[in-house]
Amino acid sequence: MSRPSPIARQRPLIVLILLLLGCGFLATTLVSYYTALHSIRASIVNTELPLTSDNVYSEIQKDLVRPILISSMMSRDTYMRDWAIDGERNVEQITRYLQEVQEHYGTVTSFFISEPSRTYYHAKGVLKQIEEAEPRDAWYFRVREMTEPYEINVDIDMANQDRLTVFINYKVFDYQQRFIGVTGVGLTVDAVVKLIDTYQQRYNRSVFFVDPVGRIVLTGTSGGAMGAKVGQTLGELPGLASVMAQVSAPQSGNFQYQEHGRNHFLNVRFIPELNWYLFVDKHENGALAGIRKSLYLNLLVCLLVTAIVAVIVSLALRRYQARITALATTDQLTELLNRRGFDLLANQAIQEARRNQSELCTLLLDLDNFKELNDTHGHQAGDQVLRGFARNLRDDLRQSDILCRWGGEEFVLLLKDTSVEQARVLAQKIRQQTEQSEFHYNGSDLRITTSIGLAQLHADESLEQLLLRADRALYRAKQGGRNRLCEEHP
Ligand code: GH3
Ligand code: MG
Ligand code: MG
Repeated sequence: MSRPSPIARQRPLIVLILLLLGCGFLATTLVSYYTALHSIRASIVNTELPLTSDNVYSEIQKDLVRPILISSMMSRDTYMRDWAIDGERNVEQITRYLQEVQEHYGTVTSFFISEPSRTYYHAKGVLKQIEEAEPRDAWYFRVREMTEPYEINVDIDMANQDRLTVFINYKVFDYQQRFIGVTGVGLTVDAVVKLIDTYQQRYNRSVFFVDPVGRIVLTGTSGGAMGAKVGQTLGELPGLASVMAQVSAPQSGNFQYQEHGRNHFLNVRFIPELNWYLFVDKHENGALAGIRKSLYLNLLVCLLVTAIVAVIVSLALRRYQARITALATTDQLTELLNRRGFDLLANQAIQEARRNQSELCTLLLDLDNFKELNDTHGHQAGDQVLRGFARNLRDDLRQSDILCRWGGEEFVLLLKDTSVEQARVLAQKIRQQTEQSEFHYNGSDLRITTSIGLAQLHADESLEQLLLRADRALYRAKQGGRNRLCEEHP
């Protein structure tokens, strides 16, 4: 019957320790990961995106609100209205007026389009005549028809090398509230676009403006969210289509959506001055790269520590196991094998001898009249003799011989690959040596003799049967007068 090895018996304990350790590590790592995740998400939604929105908003306000005020003032300017009502007689006068506005307020252009004459005046004179059939002039007719007093239109500036410009188009009325033209200023949005570029590139955010029908009207040079261009609608953008499906038109608030498996956070804010919505969008992946990295690092450290603990625990257990086994199989007094240790080794030796068909002999030794020695010199003296006798025995033997204190003052010897003749020679040597040895104790020299029984292993014989025969031989040696060797052969 095979018994599990000591290490195999330890396995559940090691597995349990590793499991506890692993679970503990995993729990703390995951808790800190999710805490960090939560706080990063919260900071994106509550701080980062609104802050970006605020900055872009204040920049655009700086760029747009002032021109709206200027345009509003121009549309109410009695000088310009009088000049128009009086028949637009002196072009130089209106040119100077527009030039003054442009230079004083630092706009890129300033203009007045007269409804009666359809003439486009700007700071350098007359630019052109407005034609209803001309697509580039369509904006004028749109403004003329609208109910609001003004509009903000992102368009190219024909008077400025077709540069992308934001026009404030203000309707002008005479004193009877009749429409007499459109005036206003234009400005480049370079500063806003630059700011948007900074946010998009440096902070991995998408920033863009959307009109109330969901069309992108302004964004950075490299495009808006997911490379969206001015003129595209939100519905055309991946991921945002799902947001737009929930809300029919843009509206302020915080949104979350998925795009190609990436989690997005979106802050939308209405800008009343422009009647536009400012979209600031950030996907989570970039923000989480750092804490993902530390998560993997943590897990690696946990794995390493767990592995190291596993190795240390199993080494320690192995050592303790070895020590316990040694203790359990050794006789304390003589440091020889005890019966338990002998059983383990002797059975192995017998199987080996049987397998190899080699000879194996056993000697059973019993010290003569030991009780008497104890009684005369004391138990301590007996112990001293037992120790000395064992030491002498050990010195006579080969590495492969198995020597055991069988109990009391009896010893058993198993001799591998040994013939009866060789065993007999060894037994006589031991007997004579014992007879001649002196064991010193408390100033006296103690002497002892030993009787020995010899038997050789036969085919199909068990360890017990072999020892029984050796015991019979030993009995005969005692009967025969002690201090002698007897053999028992079947
Ligand atoms: P015999 O020649 O017939 O073997 O006589 P004996 O006195 O040796 O035999 P017996 O079995 O009557 O006595 C054995 C004695 O060995 C009895 C016991 O007290 C003693 N003994 C057994 N173990 C120890 C031990 O560990 N230390 C000491 N000092 N004595 C022991
Ligand atoms: Mg005895
Ligand atoms: Mg005895």
